[in-house]
Amino acid sequence: MTPAELHIVHYPHPALRWKSKPVYRVDDTLRSIVSRMFELMSEASGIGLAANQIALPYQLFIISIPETEDHPAIEQILVNPVLQNQKGSHEAEEGCLSLPNLYGPVKRATTVDVKAYDLDGNEINFHAENLHARVIQHEHDHLHGRLFIDRMSEMKKRELSGPLEDFRYHHRQLQQHQKLESDEHLQDDLRKWEQHLT
Ligand code: ZN
Repeated sequence: MTPAELHIVHYPHPALRWKSKPVYRVDDTLRSIVSRMFELMSEASGIGLAANQIALPYQLFIISIPETEDHPAIEQILVNPVLQNQKGSHEAEEGCLSLPNLYGPVKRATTVDVKAYDLDGNEINFHAENLHARVIQHEHDHLHGRLFIDRMSEMKKRELSGPLEDFRYHHRQLQQHQKLESDEHLQDDLRKWEQHLT
């Protein structure tokens, strides 16, 4: 599959439960993957997109938060991000491009310190707050196979069980009609992409 063919995958695609591998080499393929990610995120009007969401097992995500009264626009590519000093707690509604039209309240730290690398291999260190911190925590979860639904209250999870079953039903239907590979095949593809890193 070429970067141009990559697209956003939906729950319960196995890539969304995959623990991604760190990236130690940036080449032209990875650079074109990142530009494809920006294209997909903007088409879907998202503010963050993790590699897992385009079925790539890499510790990498992008962010594009529009300007608000409180802060200028934020655009970032974070490779191998590590989160530290998560402080405070705030509950707010979240959504996810891999679970379209599903929303629910998630508690996240209000501030977080981030260590990551950019595409040139330079180390970046910064402090993020509020929406920026929330997006980073949501995307960072993706890299470790965690989804925002995992962090919702038991009550909310029960409330969403119908819509989640619809996603699973749709996934099975696509597989039955050969419009999507089997989970085993999709997992093999993830392993193949992992090879590209080493
Ligand atoms: Zn998401």
